[in-house]
Amino acid sequence: MIIHTSMKKDLPLLRVNSLFHIASLWIVLNIIIFYTTYSQTNPNFNVNLLMDYSAVEKSIDLFEDEYVNTQTLSELRGNRIAASTTGLIANRGNVINILKNFLDSLRYHQIIRDDIYHLEDARKNVANIKELLEEMKKQNFNRRVAATVEQIFPEDANFSITIPVYVVALGHENVDAYVRRIIWHGDTPQFVGENAGELNIVINLTHSIDYGTNVEERFISLLGVVAHEVFHAAFSAYKENSRSWKYFYKNRTEFIDDLLDLTQNEGIAYYLSFDQRGRGFVPRDWNVKIRQVFSEFNNNATQLLSDSITHGRAGQLIRKANLSGSWENYGAMTGMFIAREIDLRLGRATLIETISSGPFDFFLKYSTLSERDSELPKFSTKIEEKIRKKQIK
Ligand SMILES: [Zn+2]
Repeated sequence: MIIHTSMKKDLPLLRVNSLFHIASLWIVLNIIIFYTTYSQTNPNFNVNLLMDYSAVEKSIDLFEDEYVNTQTLSELRGNRIAASTTGLIANRGNVINILKNFLDSLRYHQIIRDDIYHLEDARKNVANIKELLEEMKKQNFNRRVAATVEQIFPEDANFSITIPVYVVALGHENVDAYVRRIIWHGDTPQFVGENAGELNIVINLTHSIDYGTNVEERFISLLGVVAHEVFHAAFSAYKENSRSWKYFYKNRTEFIDDLLDLTQNEGIAYYLSFDQRGRGFVPRDWNVKIRQVFSEFNNNATQLLSDSITHGRAGQLIRKANLSGSWENYGAMTGMFIAREIDLRLGRATLIETISSGPFDFFLKYSTLSERDSELPKFSTKIEEKIRKKQIK
């Protein structure tokens, strides 16, 4: 999911994270500079993003004082998801039904107290919202995202997924883009957990001004964050047809397996968003941060390997690996670092190989690198043993 967060806003995300996946635009924003364009080459890699711009377009009309039926506007699918997600994050329960009243207040220029959907902000930013929206249409946002994700998959990848993407201009300030799993009853969403319903992506352009200093940068940030989510969706579809992944899930018996799986999945997803803005560029405190997350990874993985660890504690450690969309995500960040080192030192083809071969190979490839270069942080001996033992099986 995409979510724009800033450091001070991290806390509320912890609460929503268990309910929907949150990738952090914060991380993307703090990294990058330029990006490469890719084109799609594999006819069997079918990732279709169905862009739905109706909510943002009608909202723009409303912000510009054109006549808009607020009932209809509040009932658009994108706005229904945005409103209920706002309620969830703000702990207000189901707030879908009150959205129309807020939209009416906005329309009549009444003062909105407790503007939970940030409609006033959106109206103030209408010029930026329009600009980014035009850029998304002009640059074929959906095809750009699909092409970005495709270049990290093996050439024999063969699957087809369709994901609706709703672009809106309202919602909680902490989440600018996110993924929710939904079963639709007509236009009424029922939110469901992992492995149920259909994936839906929502992008709120209200705070698009924060994504970069100009429309090009904002577009790339958005592309990176949506690509993160789409990568996850494509990766699960890929795994369904993969022998080595079926084997992995069938033989997954230990807590550590889950951590390694998550680390690879999140790591590559973050690297993909990161990579959009420049392969070589890293933030100034990169080395210090990487050493910190690596040592946390080693500590927690070693705990997971202990015979005496409880289910509760293990679950806690694994959740923490990708919890808040920042450097505290020791698993995701370690994975991003590993993916980057494999890509830059061993080449894209080698990184793609780990998509088909799975987490043990992903870790083993990095381990080989860290043996060669003493500057690279290393896994603890226990983890090394585990990776090698698992790989041989
Ligand atoms: Zn993710």
